[in-house]
Amino acid sequence: MKGIVIMNTTRNMINLNPQLVREIYEEAKKYDGVLDLTLGDPDIKTPEFIIRETIAALENNKTKYTANSGMAELRRAISEDVYKRTGIRYDADSEITVTAGAMGALFLASRCILAPGDEMIILEPNWPNYVNMVRMCGAKEVIVSLFEDNIIEKIRTAVSDKTRAIIINSPSNPTGLVLPWDMLCEIAAIAKENDLYVISDEVYHSIVFDMEYKSILEIEGMKERTILVDSMSKRFSMTGYRVGFMCAQREIAYLSAQLQENVNSCACMFAQAASAIALENCEQAQTEITEIFKDRCTSMVAELNKSPYLDVPSPTATFYLFFDITKTKMSSYDFTVKLLRSKHIAVVPGNAFGRTGEGYIRIACTLSTEKLVAAAKQIVAFINEECGNN
Ligand code: PLP
Repeated sequence: MKGIVIMNTTRNMINLNPQLVREIYEEAKKYDGVLDLTLGDPDIKTPEFIIRETIAALENNKTKYTANSGMAELRRAISEDVYKRTGIRYDADSEITVTAGAMGALFLASRCILAPGDEMIILEPNWPNYVNMVRMCGAKEVIVSLFEDNIIEKIRTAVSDKTRAIIINSPSNPTGLVLPWDMLCEIAAIAKENDLYVISDEVYHSIVFDMEYKSILEIEGMKERTILVDSMSKRFSMTGYRVGFMCAQREIAYLSAQLQENVNSCACMFAQAASAIALENCEQAQTEITEIFKDRCTSMVAELNKSPYLDVPSPTATFYLFFDITKTKMSSYDFTVKLLRSKHIAVVPGNAFGRTGEGYIRIACTLSTEKLVAAAKQIVAFINEECGNN
């Protein structure tokens, strides 16, 4: 596994971590009839009313540039959407920037607050792009494992005079877990004590099973230091629309829009128009999508747990299963490669999400329940073949 080092003419070195998720995804294409459970890109169709709105937007000439911060009607819909779920109001004119997906928001947010030499704390296992985004700003990631004891103490120790921010992702890709409220309160306290920003990546907030989701934003005094990131991608199965957003203090929102002018000017106009309608009518679509994921994850877990080598926890959020395979005595990478070769099933090795993920596998429940159960049966058979049927 080698990273990529990009050297430009100004001798800037950007040391990018390899994208193992993409690597396995590409490798899987070489096999026939693969059940691909790698990317977080579900097969669920974008809801019909959003598609109709997209077509209408195209017919109505919404095919132009928009303001760098996005269309006013979408920013108003975002302001309402965030207010409804958190009770926190962001000003549509000055505190919201529409971006090219959450990825756009995360990068612009990082660029706004990180200077070369700064540090950002990342909780591992983590979505791998965070590390590369920090490095693309010339800053340094400082990793704290979520799988060890005394996490809060470790975050406290990780703070240095160079730390500018902590990034959190709850519900999490890859673990599918929601950070407990008391942990959010402790992280908020650390941020306040040390004058840090918190980037809160909440792209999975609507996909929670039988629980209420609360944002770190809801903690007293956190609006001032939180950069909230969300997108249409997972909530409405609109990954290809590339519409996301960030809500932040006025200065940061302003700077992010200025930066965006020089990167992609704005998010796609007709996709923005459809996103406004999606947010204004979000409840039914979100409930339906969440129910589909709950059924998929529950069925997959039940089937996987038929293996004596696995103890897959019940999912609480997202559409990811992240589970321990150490009883099989295979490394995460070997497990993945052997499974792909022998059963044509593509999963992601846990170490794609940092060192803490070694010994784990991530499955994205992005196919129908029927296909997922078939894949789970094959995974159980594969483990039996490799390890013996005890
Ligand atoms: N944040 C997390 C945690 C993700 O898992 C992903 C995509 O998988 C993103 C952000 C990017 O989302 P978007 O498609 O809106 O750019």
